[in-house]
Amino acid sequence: MKTQFLSIFVLLFLFFGCKTNVITGKKTLNFFGDNQSLFPTSFQQYRSFLDEHEVVTGTKDASAVARIGNDIANAAALYYAYLGTPNGLDNYAWEYNLVKSEQVNAWCMPGGKIVFYTGIMPVAKNPDGIAAIMGHEVAHALADHGAQRMSLGIVQQAGGLVTAQATKKEDERKRQQIMMAYGIGTTVGGMLPFSRKHETEADKIGLTLMTLAGYNPEEAPKLWERMKAQSKGGVPEFLISHPSEERRIANLQEWIPQAKAIADEIKLTQKK
Ligand SMILES: [Zn+2]
Repeated sequence: MKTQFLSIFVLLFLFFGCKTNVITGKKTLNFFGDNQSLFPTSFQQYRSFLDEHEVVTGTKDASAVARIGNDIANAAALYYAYLGTPNGLDNYAWEYNLVKSEQVNAWCMPGGKIVFYTGIMPVAKNPDGIAAIMGHEVAHALADHGAQRMSLGIVQQAGGLVTAQATKKEDERKRQQIMMAYGIGTTVGGMLPFSRKHETEADKIGLTLMTLAGYNPEEAPKLWERMKAQSKGGVPEFLISHPSEERRIANLQEWIPQAKAIADEIKLTQKK
């Protein structure tokens, strides 16, 4: 009986949970279609993360992260307008913070909440390097990779009936919130690695974003060379989910002309 109920539950989710993403044009599993329910929970989690960590302010690096983050967000807005969805980012509340930590990592939570760790700054090295990382992380958010991962997590979780049972008496809204909190909790700080497919997608979109924002895309493959060098004698956090560095560097090299062409075309459309 339980299993039967659950199968229906999962099937319904799968049926209603597919959404076409604006920026990738792909139909993927995503229960948080309009982001209306996902973002507030994400923002809350971001706030508590910042409360529990040391946020760096007033330094050159902190202002670089904020300035470049803003440039990438503006590029994302241009890109969305070009794709015919100028209101696509209305629910976003962009925020860029530098957090004190030796971790070589950066991430962007659903809705545009970004963290750079101080440990990644020497590897980023210059504004173009920061823009390459920023573009990549923002691309994960725009492509709904976090939401997809959480949706998948919910399906897996439903298989164990854990949340469904534990929250049986709670109302539907509350249950949704608990499920999302679970998903986001495991997502913060990139605790769960993205798949290789998502990484490649984020690299490609990120390269276009940084180019459109006026940064030099030639720096992206160089950044990953530095990441690779850094990883000798211990794998930095940021690389755990990135299995084939050689492939990634070669891809980025290959995509530069295309990224420049798209950026030029978008800029031209803007001028009209
Ligand atoms: Zn990534």
